[in-house]
Amino acid sequence: MQAISVQQPWAFGIARGVKAVSNQSLPTAYRGPLLIHASMRVDLKACDSPHIQAAGWDPRDPLATIGAVIAIAELTDVCSAAIRDEPCDCGPWADPGAYHWRLTSVRALPRPIVALGRPDIWEPKPTLVIEVQAMLEAEAARLVQQD
Ligand SMILES: [Zn+2]
Repeated sequence: MQAISVQQPWAFGIARGVKAVSNQSLPTAYRGPLLIHASMRVDLKACDSPHIQAAGWDPRDPLATIGAVIAIAELTDVCSAAIRDEPCDCGPWADPGAYHWRLTSVRALPRPIVALGRPDIWEPKPTLVIEVQAMLEAEAARLVQQD
């Protein structure tokens, strides 16, 4: 398990499952489960972007929390086409001049988990991983009971 810290409101867009690409300055060889951590800094200009508004951006939403893990995704691919100025099919969220970390199977956490982030990709503490897994298992059990 690895994690990345992403500024709000971009982290919100990922957690909502509408932003399937995270624009990063570096590539990674890692593939697999990736915690989405909302960093303490907010990209205020981005809050008005049409993509973020279309994603239903709401500063009062728990997924808009800063300084917390808010979702888990699968990092399935890293696209470097934009680094070489080549076109790609990563969609409207993909920035020019960035590595496109492609995310699938995004699940928002039922509650944000407060955690310290770091720049670039980082390894979450075992206690944090356990807390995320316990939360997802409880959520899955709750959904089964509702059926
Ligand atoms: Zn791409």
